[in-house]
Amino acid sequence: MKTIGLIGGMSWESSLLYYEFINNKVKLQLGGFHSAKCILNSVDFAEIAELQANDDWESLNKIMVRSAIQLEDAGADIILVCANTMHLCYEAIVQNTNIPCLHIAEATGEKIAKHSISKVALLGTKFTMERDFYKNILSNDFGIDVIVPNQEERNQIHDIIYNELVRGIINLASKVKYKKIIDDLIEAGAEGVILGCTEIPLLISDNDARVPIFNTTKIHAEKAVQWALK
Ligand code: GLU
Repeated sequence: MKTIGLIGGMSWESSLLYYEFINNKVKLQLGGFHSAKCILNSVDFAEIAELQANDDWESLNKIMVRSAIQLEDAGADIILVCANTMHLCYEAIVQNTNIPCLHIAEATGEKIAKHSISKVALLGTKFTMERDFYKNILSNDFGIDVIVPNQEERNQIHDIIYNELVRGIINLASKVKYKKIIDDLIEAGAEGVILGCTEIPLLISDNDARVPIFNTTKIHAEKAVQWALK
Protein backbone atom coordinates (compact mmCIF):
# COMPACT_ATOMS: atom_id res chain seq x y z
CA MET A 1 0.00 0.00 0.00
CA LYS A 2 1.26 3.47 -0.95
CA THR A 3 1.15 6.41 1.49
CA ILE A 4 -1.42 9.13 0.83
CA GLY A 5 -0.37 12.69 1.72
CA LEU A 6 -3.21 15.03 2.62
CA ILE A 7 -3.04 18.82 2.70
CA GLY A 8 -5.91 19.37 5.11
CA GLY A 9 -7.38 21.96 7.42
CA MET A 10 -9.28 23.61 4.56
CA SER A 11 -11.32 23.20 6.57
CA TRP A 12 -10.61 20.58 9.22
CA GLU A 13 -14.35 19.77 9.19
CA SER A 14 -13.88 18.24 5.74
CA SER A 15 -10.45 16.77 6.54
CA LEU A 16 -12.31 14.56 9.04
CA LEU A 17 -14.48 13.30 6.19
CA TYR A 18 -11.40 12.56 4.09
CA TYR A 19 -9.85 10.52 6.91
CA GLU A 20 -13.06 8.57 7.37
CA PHE A 21 -13.66 7.93 3.66
CA ILE A 22 -10.05 6.86 3.08
CA ASN A 23 -9.98 4.42 5.98
CA ASN A 24 -13.44 3.03 5.20
CA LYS A 25 -12.42 2.37 1.62
CA VAL A 26 -9.23 0.57 2.71
CA LYS A 27 -11.26 -1.48 5.20
CA LEU A 28 -13.73 -2.39 2.48
CA GLN A 29 -11.00 -3.36 0.00
CA LEU A 30 -8.58 -5.19 2.32
CA GLY A 31 -10.68 -6.18 5.34
CA GLY A 32 -9.20 -7.44 8.59
CA PHE A 33 -7.26 -4.88 10.60
CA HIS A 34 -6.24 -2.87 7.55
CA SER A 35 -6.26 0.91 7.60
CA ALA A 36 -4.85 3.58 5.32
CA LYS A 37 -1.23 4.67 5.30
CA CYS A 38 -1.56 8.43 5.24
CA ILE A 39 0.10 11.63 6.41
CA LEU A 40 -1.96 14.71 7.20
CA ASN A 41 -0.39 18.14 6.89
CA SER A 42 -3.03 20.47 8.28
CA VAL A 43 -2.84 24.22 7.70
CA ASP A 44 -4.45 27.07 9.64
CA PHE A 45 -7.60 27.95 7.71
CA ALA A 46 -7.72 31.49 9.10
CA GLU A 47 -4.56 32.30 7.11
CA ILE A 48 -5.93 30.60 4.00
CA ALA A 49 -9.35 32.31 4.16
CA GLU A 50 -7.79 35.75 4.62
CA LEU A 51 -5.45 35.32 1.65
CA GLN A 52 -8.36 34.02 -0.47
CA ALA A 53 -10.46 37.05 0.47
CA ASN A 54 -7.53 39.29 -0.58
CA ASP A 55 -7.15 37.30 -3.81
CA ASP A 56 -3.49 36.73 -2.90
CA TRP A 57 -2.87 33.54 -4.85
CA GLU A 58 0.87 34.06 -4.91
CA SER A 59 1.02 33.64 -1.13
CA LEU A 60 -1.48 30.77 -1.26
CA ASN A 61 0.70 29.03 -3.87
CA LYS A 62 3.66 29.35 -1.51
CA ILE A 63 1.75 27.82 1.42
CA MET A 64 0.42 24.94 -0.70
CA VAL A 65 3.84 24.24 -2.27
CA ARG A 66 5.51 24.27 1.15
CA SER A 67 2.86 21.89 2.54
CA ALA A 68 3.23 19.57 -0.44
CA ILE A 69 7.04 19.48 -0.16
CA GLN A 70 6.73 18.68 3.55
CA LEU A 71 4.48 15.73 2.67
CA GLU A 72 6.89 14.52 0.00
CA ASP A 73 9.82 14.80 2.43
CA ALA A 74 7.81 12.90 5.04
CA GLY A 75 7.39 9.96 2.67
CA ALA A 76 4.03 10.53 0.95
CA ASP A 77 3.66 8.86 -2.47
CA ILE A 78 0.79 11.04 -3.67
CA ILE A 79 -0.67 14.40 -2.68
CA LEU A 80 -4.32 15.28 -2.15
CA VAL A 81 -5.34 18.90 -1.71
CA CYS A 82 -8.39 18.41 0.51
CA ALA A 83 -10.44 21.27 -0.95
CA ASN A 84 -11.80 22.11 -4.39
CA THR A 85 -11.00 25.82 -4.25
CA MET A 86 -7.36 25.32 -3.35
CA HIS A 87 -6.85 23.46 -6.63
CA LEU A 88 -6.22 26.96 -7.93
CA CYS A 89 -2.72 26.16 -6.58
CA TYR A 90 -2.51 22.80 -8.38
CA GLU A 91 -0.08 23.91 -11.11
CA ALA A 92 2.32 25.42 -8.56
CA ILE A 93 2.28 22.18 -6.54
CA VAL A 94 2.90 20.00 -9.60
CA GLN A 95 5.77 22.20 -10.75
CA ASN A 96 7.51 22.05 -7.38
CA THR A 97 7.13 18.41 -6.31
CA ASN A 98 8.18 15.03 -7.67
CA ILE A 99 5.18 12.94 -6.67
CA PRO A 100 1.73 12.94 -8.30
CA CYS A 101 -1.01 15.27 -7.11
CA LEU A 102 -4.48 13.82 -7.67
CA HIS A 103 -6.76 16.53 -9.07
CA ILE A 104 -10.22 16.56 -7.50
CA ALA A 105 -11.96 17.75 -10.70
CA GLU A 106 -10.33 14.98 -12.74
CA ALA A 107 -11.45 12.32 -10.26
CA THR A 108 -14.94 13.85 -10.34
CA GLY A 109 -15.02 14.05 -14.15
CA GLU A 110 -14.09 10.36 -14.39
CA LYS A 111 -16.90 9.46 -12.02
CA ILE A 112 -19.50 11.55 -13.87
CA ALA A 113 -18.41 10.08 -17.22
CA LYS A 114 -19.36 6.62 -15.93
CA HIS A 115 -22.96 7.87 -15.53
CA SER A 116 -23.24 9.04 -19.15
CA ILE A 117 -24.34 12.46 -17.96
CA SER A 118 -23.70 15.44 -20.23
CA LYS A 119 -24.91 18.40 -18.13
CA VAL A 120 -24.16 18.91 -14.43
CA ALA A 121 -24.67 21.66 -11.88
CA LEU A 122 -21.64 22.80 -9.89
CA LEU A 123 -21.97 24.07 -6.32
CA GLY A 124 -18.95 25.38 -4.43
CA THR A 125 -17.23 28.55 -3.35
CA LYS A 126 -17.45 31.53 -5.69
CA PHE A 127 -13.87 30.76 -6.75
CA THR A 128 -14.89 27.29 -7.88
CA MET A 129 -18.20 28.29 -9.47
CA GLU A 130 -16.99 31.45 -11.20
CA ARG A 131 -13.42 30.80 -12.33
CA ASP A 132 -12.42 28.47 -15.13
CA PHE A 133 -9.88 26.17 -13.43
CA TYR A 134 -12.50 23.61 -12.42
CA LYS A 135 -15.16 23.89 -15.12
CA ASN A 136 -12.52 23.68 -17.89
CA ILE A 137 -11.35 20.24 -16.76
CA LEU A 138 -14.91 18.93 -16.81
CA SER A 139 -15.75 20.41 -20.18
CA ASN A 140 -12.40 20.05 -22.01
CA ASP A 141 -11.32 16.65 -20.68
CA PHE A 142 -14.70 14.98 -20.20
CA GLY A 143 -17.11 16.85 -22.52
CA ILE A 144 -19.39 17.68 -19.59
CA ASP A 145 -21.48 20.84 -19.79
CA VAL A 146 -21.35 22.69 -16.42
CA ILE A 147 -24.03 25.07 -15.18
CA VAL A 148 -23.84 27.20 -12.02
CA PRO A 149 -26.46 29.03 -9.96
CA ASN A 150 -27.24 32.71 -10.61
CA GLN A 151 -25.26 35.49 -8.91
CA GLU A 152 -27.53 35.84 -5.87
CA GLU A 153 -27.60 32.08 -5.32
CA ARG A 154 -23.81 31.85 -5.73
CA ASN A 155 -23.44 34.45 -2.99
CA GLN A 156 -25.76 32.45 -0.73
CA ILE A 157 -23.89 29.19 -1.35
CA HIS A 158 -20.50 30.84 -0.78
CA ASP A 159 -21.59 32.63 2.40
CA ILE A 160 -23.05 29.45 3.90
CA ILE A 161 -19.74 27.66 3.25
CA TYR A 162 -17.61 30.33 4.95
CA ASN A 163 -20.01 31.46 7.70
CA GLU A 164 -21.33 28.03 8.66
CA LEU A 165 -19.92 24.84 7.14
CA VAL A 166 -16.19 25.47 7.64
CA ARG A 167 -17.05 26.39 11.24
CA GLY A 168 -18.97 23.13 11.71
CA ILE A 169 -22.37 24.86 11.85
CA ILE A 170 -25.14 22.81 10.26
CA ASN A 171 -28.27 24.87 9.79
CA LEU A 172 -31.59 23.50 8.56
CA ALA A 173 -32.57 26.82 6.93
CA SER A 174 -29.35 26.67 4.89
CA LYS A 175 -30.12 23.13 3.81
CA VAL A 176 -33.52 24.31 2.57
CA LYS A 177 -31.82 27.12 0.58
CA TYR A 178 -29.35 24.67 -0.99
CA LYS A 179 -32.14 22.25 -1.90
CA LYS A 180 -34.16 25.01 -3.57
CA ILE A 181 -31.11 26.03 -5.61
CA ILE A 182 -30.49 22.39 -6.57
CA ASP A 183 -34.13 21.99 -7.68
CA ASP A 184 -33.87 25.10 -9.85
CA LEU A 185 -30.69 23.78 -11.48
CA ILE A 186 -32.39 20.46 -12.21
CA GLU A 187 -35.28 22.40 -13.79
CA ALA A 188 -32.64 24.16 -15.89
CA GLY A 189 -31.48 20.78 -17.23
CA ALA A 190 -28.85 19.53 -14.77
CA GLU A 191 -28.72 15.72 -14.85
CA GLY A 192 -26.42 15.59 -11.83
CA VAL A 193 -25.14 17.86 -9.06
CA ILE A 194 -21.49 18.25 -8.06
CA LEU A 195 -20.92 19.07 -4.41
CA GLY A 196 -17.80 20.98 -5.44
CA CYS A 197 -16.80 22.04 -1.97
CA THR A 198 -15.54 19.46 0.47
CA GLU A 199 -17.81 20.69 3.30
CA ILE A 200 -21.12 20.61 1.36
CA PRO A 201 -21.56 16.87 2.12
CA LEU A 202 -22.02 17.95 5.75
CA LEU A 203 -25.28 19.59 4.62
CA ILE A 204 -26.43 17.77 1.48
CA SER A 205 -26.59 14.02 0.92
CA ASP A 206 -27.56 11.64 -1.88
CA ASN A 207 -31.25 11.74 -0.96
CA ASP A 208 -31.49 15.50 -1.33
CA ALA A 209 -31.89 15.51 -5.11
CA ARG A 210 -33.73 13.43 -7.68
CA VAL A 211 -30.59 13.25 -9.86
CA PRO A 212 -27.19 11.74 -8.96
CA ILE A 213 -25.16 13.73 -6.45
CA PHE A 214 -21.37 13.80 -6.88
CA ASN A 215 -19.70 14.15 -3.49
CA THR A 216 -16.21 15.39 -4.40
CA THR A 217 -14.79 14.67 -0.94
CA LYS A 218 -15.73 11.01 -1.22
CA ILE A 219 -14.80 10.69 -4.89
CA HIS A 220 -11.37 12.26 -4.29
CA ALA A 221 -10.66 10.16 -1.18
CA GLU A 222 -11.74 6.90 -2.80
CA LYS A 223 -9.77 7.57 -5.98
CA ALA A 224 -6.66 8.07 -3.84
CA VAL A 225 -7.21 4.70 -2.14
CA GLN A 226 -7.71 3.03 -5.50
CA TRP A 227 -4.35 4.51 -6.56
CA ALA A 228 -2.63 3.57 -3.29
CA LEU A 229 -3.72 -0.05 -3.55
CA LYS A 230 -3.15 -0.69 -7.23
N1 GLU B 1 -13.19 23.13 1.35
C1 GLU B 1 -13.73 24.06 0.45
C2 GLU B 1 -13.62 23.63 -0.98
O1 GLU B 1 -13.66 22.47 -1.24
C3 GLU B 1 -13.80 25.49 0.76
C4 GLU B 1 -12.80 26.02 1.72
C5 GLU B 1 -11.63 26.55 0.97
O2 GLU B 1 -11.74 27.62 0.41
O3 GLU B 1 -10.62 25.89 0.86
O4 GLU B 1 -13.55 24.43 -1.89
